[in-house]
Amino acid sequence: MRNTISSGPPSPEEFQRQLQEFMRQHFQNAPGAASRTEMSGAPESPEAEPEPKDFSFDKTPREVKAYLDRFVIKQEEAKKVLSVALCDHYHHVRLAMEGKDQPNYAKQNVILVGPTGVGKTYLIRSAADLIGVPFVKGDATKFSETGYVGGDVEDLVRELLRRADGDVERAQYGIIYIDEIDKIAAANTNSGRDVSGRGVQTNLLKLMEETEVPARSPQDIAGQIQAMMDLNQRGKKSPGNINTKHILFIVSGAFGGLEKLIRKRLRDATIGFAATLQQQVAEETALEQVQTRDFIEFGFEPEFIGRLPVRVVCQQLNAEDLFLILKSSEGSIIRQYEQTFAAYGIEVLFRDDGLKRIAELAAEEQTGARGLMTICERIFRNFKFELPSTKVKRFVVTRELVDRPDADLEKLLAEHESEERAVVRQLVHDFAERFRENHGITIRFTDAAADLLVQMAVEQGTPVRDLCAAKFKDFQFGLKLIAQNTGQKEFAIGRDAVEAPDKVLSDWVVKSYRKEGA
Ligand code: ADP
Repeated sequence: MRNTISSGPPSPEEFQRQLQEFMRQHFQNAPGAASRTEMSGAPESPEAEPEPKDFSFDKTPREVKAYLDRFVIKQEEAKKVLSVALCDHYHHVRLAMEGKDQPNYAKQNVILVGPTGVGKTYLIRSAADLIGVPFVKGDATKFSETGYVGGDVEDLVRELLRRADGDVERAQYGIIYIDEIDKIAAANTNSGRDVSGRGVQTNLLKLMEETEVPARSPQDIAGQIQAMMDLNQRGKKSPGNINTKHILFIVSGAFGGLEKLIRKRLRDATIGFAATLQQQVAEETALEQVQTRDFIEFGFEPEFIGRLPVRVVCQQLNAEDLFLILKSSEGSIIRQYEQTFAAYGIEVLFRDDGLKRIAELAAEEQTGARGLMTICERIFRNFKFELPSTKVKRFVVTRELVDRPDADLEKLLAEHESEERAVVRQLVHDFAERFRENHGITIRFTDAAADLLVQMAVEQGTPVRDLCAAKFKDFQFGLKLIAQNTGQKEFAIGRDAVEAPDKVLSDWVVKSYRKEGA
C-alpha cells in the first residue's frame, strides 16, 4: 500500500474519487457483485430497507420506578427523578413522532452525581431495556477535542446506530450515557485537560442541542469503503445522517470536590445565622443541594450545564444496602454464582449471615457494589477450582465460610457425605421459604418428609431444588384453590405428599370443595 502513495495524503474529495475508481476496477464486475444484482432483479432502492418500527411509549413514572426497583436497590430519589425525566422525554418523543412536536420543549438531559459502583449505569441500562431503546455508554476521558487522538464524541451516536441494528429512526431516540464527565471540567486542573476539556464540552453541547451526525465516520475508512460498495453493487444507499434532537443524554461522574464547593456556598449564605444551620448543611445532604452555579464553579461552561436540567444524586452504599443487593436485586451476583456452580451440578445456598459478612467486607472496599464482585471472587476462587472435580454436590455459604474460605473448603472436602444431608435438609426448607415468598402460601415439611426428600436427592444425585420443583409443581395452583375455598394458608407436607404428591394434592382439593359446600 505504502509505495503506491507518492506524495502527501490526498484531499478527501480526491481520496474518494480514487477509491471509487479502485472499486470500479476491482470489484464492479466481480462475480459476487454481478450475481447479487441479477438475483434481486433491480438494484435495491432505499425504500427496500427494513421499515422502522413504530415507537410507542405509555408508561407512568410510577411504572418505570417499579421496574427499576426490581434491579436497583436504594437510590430512591434518583429512581424517582429519573423515572419522571424518562417519561417526560419519551412522551415528548412519541408526540413528536406523531407530528405534534412542542416547539419550546427543553430536553430532559440528566447529570448523575455519585461515587463509583452505586448503580448509575445499572439504572440507565435497566431503564433503556424497559423502554426498548438503544443504549450506549462512553467515557468522557476518551474524547479529544479534535477527535483525532482518542475518540470523537460523534462516534457515540454512530455506536447507537450500531446498537439499533442500523435503524436510524431507533438510533435517533436512543440514550447516550457518558461517564467521568467531571474529568472534562476546565477548572479540574489535576487532570491537565483544561483546554481540551472545554473543547469536548463544546462538541458535546452541539450533540445535546441538535445536529446531524454522518452515519459513517470520515475517519472510518472501512466504513466508507463499505458504503461505496453498497452503493456501487446494490444501489443501496447507506444510512445518511442521524439527527440528535431526540437522543437523551445522561452524563455522570463522582465529582470529587463538588461537595466542598456546595458547602462553601451554603456556608457563605448562612453567615449570621445560627451555628446549627451551618451544621445541617455540612453533612451528606450537601450534594443534594447542588445548583447550576456549583457546576460552573467546578469548571463547566454555563451553556453546557444549561443543557442538563435534570440533576440526580446517587448515594454511597453501606453494608446494609449491599446485603439487600445480594439478597433481593434481580441482577444479584449470587444468582451468577448459583449458575456457575450449577453448571457442575453443585448447589450452593447463601445463608443470610454469609451474605451479611460478604456485604460487610465489600463495604470496606469503598467501591460500591463492585466490591461485592471482588470479595466473592476471592472467597469462591478455590471452590470454583476444586469442587467441580469432587463428589461434593452442595454447600452452604455461612459467615464462617466467608471469613475462612479455605478452611471451610478443606472441611467440606473431608466431611462432605455426612454434611451433605444436613445441607439438603436446609435446601428443602429453603424451597418452602421461597414458595411462601413467591406464592403467599406457607408450606412446612415434616421431619419425615424432609428426610425422605433428602434421601431421594442423595440417591438420585438430583439437585434437591429441582426435585422439589418437579414434585410440587402443581402445588402453587392447588393450594391457592384450597386457600380460596377454605381460607387455609398453611399446609404441612408429610411423607405421604412426598411419595404421591399429585394424589395427596387432589385429595386435599376435593376435600376443600366439600367443606365449602357444607
Ligand atoms: P456505576 O455507579 O459506577 O455506574 P454500576 O451501575 O456500573 O456502577 O454498578 C456495577 C454493578 O454493581 C452493576 O452492574 C450492578 O450489578 C451492581 N450494582 C451497583 N449499584 C447497585 C444498586 N444500587 N442496586 C443493585 N445493584 C447494584
